[in-house]
Amino acid sequence: MHNFVGSYRPPMPPGMVAAGIHQEHDGHALHQPVLVLNASYEPINVCAARRAIVLVLKGIAMTEEENGHFLHAARVAMRVPSVIRLLEYRRIPHQSRALSRKNILLRDRNTCQYCSTALPSSELTLDHVIPRSRGGLSTWENLVACCHPCNRRKGNQLPHEAGMKPMREPRSFNLHTSRHIMRLMGHSDDKWRKYLFY
Ligand SMILES: [Zn+2]
Repeated sequence: MHNFVGSYRPPMPPGMVAAGIHQEHDGHALHQPVLVLNASYEPINVCAARRAIVLVLKGIAMTEEENGHFLHAARVAMRVPSVIRLLEYRRIPHQSRALSRKNILLRDRNTCQYCSTALPSSELTLDHVIPRSRGGLSTWENLVACCHPCNRRKGNQLPHEAGMKPMREPRSFNLHTSRHIMRLMGHSDDKWRKYLFY
């Protein structure tokens, strides 16, 4: 395995093992999430460590932070990155993600927008804030994650009629939302914080 790294031999600083770096004999470390920064240090994506290593070895990105794991394959030894940065600035289009049940639940963090209960996807439905029967459209701005009891309670009423307003104003899933999710993920990795909380 790890043929993608070819015969590349990065320098191994002395004292690496003494510094408490784990050697990995399985592929677990290669699936760890890695934060991808633009050349400007702006966070733009999250990818798997395996992909990040390829970007670094190809000279497209450089490692900014390491995750403490150590990739040790047949002919290669390198530290697994936790944060990488692209060497050339890339313009990131402000594209919206496809409108789908999955993406709405992701945006709303699997939380009913009326009663704030976090539930598995299977126990959530999508609620039209303005009901379809009242002219509401199936758009990012009019669909929210909703538990079944709240959905039944709201029925065909407008939010002010039911006294039920979404806890957050629904918006399209754009880069801002992606950053928000990256911030949440960043809680699990202290090394991401300084890049995410700027
Ligand atoms: Zn609810």
